[in-house]
Amino acid sequence: MTQQENDLFLIKPSDAVSWVFCVRRAWLDMHLATDFVVDPFMQLLFDAGLQHEANTLRRLQNDHDVQQATSFDHTRALMQLGVSVIYQAKLRNREKGLIGYPDFLIRHDSGLYQAADAKLTQNKNKKVLQIQLGVYRQLLDNSLPAVVYLGDGTTASYSDEVNTQVSAFIQSMRRLRVQTEQPHVHYSHSRCRICPYYAYCLTQFEADDSLSLLYGIHGRTAEHLTQAGIQTISQLAAQHAEKIPDVPHLKGLQRKQRAIIQAQSVQSGKVFLLRDIVLPEGVWIHFDIEDNPLSSTRDRHVYLWGLLVPPFTASDFDYVWTDNEATDYQGWLAFLRKIQQYRVRYKSVVLAHYSNHEKTTIKKYAERYHMLDNKTVQWLLGLEGETSPLFDMQKAVRDSLILPVQGYGLKEICKHPELVNFQWEIEASGSQWSVVQFNNFLVADEHDKQRIKSEILAYNRDDVIATRKLEVWLRTLSTQRVDGSVDIIDA
Ligand code: SF4
Repeated sequence: MTQQENDLFLIKPSDAVSWVFCVRRAWLDMHLATDFVVDPFMQLLFDAGLQHEANTLRRLQNDHDVQQATSFDHTRALMQLGVSVIYQAKLRNREKGLIGYPDFLIRHDSGLYQAADAKLTQNKNKKVLQIQLGVYRQLLDNSLPAVVYLGDGTTASYSDEVNTQVSAFIQSMRRLRVQTEQPHVHYSHSRCRICPYYAYCLTQFEADDSLSLLYGIHGRTAEHLTQAGIQTISQLAAQHAEKIPDVPHLKGLQRKQRAIIQAQSVQSGKVFLLRDIVLPEGVWIHFDIEDNPLSSTRDRHVYLWGLLVPPFTASDFDYVWTDNEATDYQGWLAFLRKIQQYRVRYKSVVLAHYSNHEKTTIKKYAERYHMLDNKTVQWLLGLEGETSPLFDMQKAVRDSLILPVQGYGLKEICKHPELVNFQWEIEASGSQWSVVQFNNFLVADEHDKQRIKSEILAYNRDDVIATRKLEVWLRTLSTQRVDGSVDIIDA
């Protein structure tokens, strides 16, 4: 085996990305690695990470002599020369079984070097970050902390406090290397759907009728239920709540009853109504925003405030659009003016949205521009003593219904042919798709800008039409109760 082939078996800090994500993914990377197409959103994040690294390099070059390493030997030679900053260093320790490529090695006054990475995240407490920087410390084998230049311009450092996590990672990776069976894990709706091994694992989870496929059943919950003899969705569907022991995230009769009904719903395809759905009175306006997390300040820039007003045809789509983050404030003010106009026009307004994101964003904008005492903001956030006109439809759905779906996202419910049955015009669209399109818009020429903007508007328009269709569907459920097509459960 050549040295290069040997190096493939050394543990890299970047392996921590898969390992922290899912231990089976780390195993599959080693034993069943497959080429996969990087989706455009991940590519966008990757490119933004490279840009952040380039910006960090430029800042360091302003104050230091920075030299780029071209190999392991060259890195060592630059260290011996005492170069102030070594860019794209290459470190290897075969005895420890480690190999790593820190973005920077920075010479300390003592003559020792400390590793530094540029990372787009703003969260210094991310486990993966701590492990990666901790492995660099092991490779350098000195007591200096490792440094990270975060996406919001701040820095953080890691010392011995991360050693335990680093050891756990290294030991686990060594075990996974020699393990012939793939690790037993549970399905996770948030992680598996964005994992390159999704199709491979889903087939197995479905064949096993795995409990963790069920909405609301966490991995730990599934683990404990299995120990109690309930291993599959079918078995859970046949249980009585009183007979199920208390397990993590599943305590109390009501929760257990919900889990059983969720299992029955998935099995039968039936909709279960737990309680009457209370929809607020007033003139409904449907509302959805598109925002860009990759702004220069890392404060999310809302490039589209989308609204659908009565009588809710496609031509009743209304919006505020901003071309770039430089006009963020103007966009926010235009949105507030529009809301104020609706308030005058319709008297009693319900601003219906799906998930808490819209409300959280309005609050963040009010804080960003010091406008918490603005009359429209106060009304929107319910700070005036009146109830807020913002109405989260997702909460209403979750509180009142149990649906035959794996997740309670807008698309999952609306696209379902037996539920709302609304299909988006652009099949591939979604919130990440929209972010990618907007970042393309930022660098496009005038002709392409128009096309991209039209597509983003069409997607957002479909989102608000979807929440309108959902509203109509929710209202029809009370009629269906009468003819018996909806099961009413006293949970
Ligand atoms: S699909 Fe899920 S279980 Fe499979 S490797 Fe990926 S995250 Fe792990």
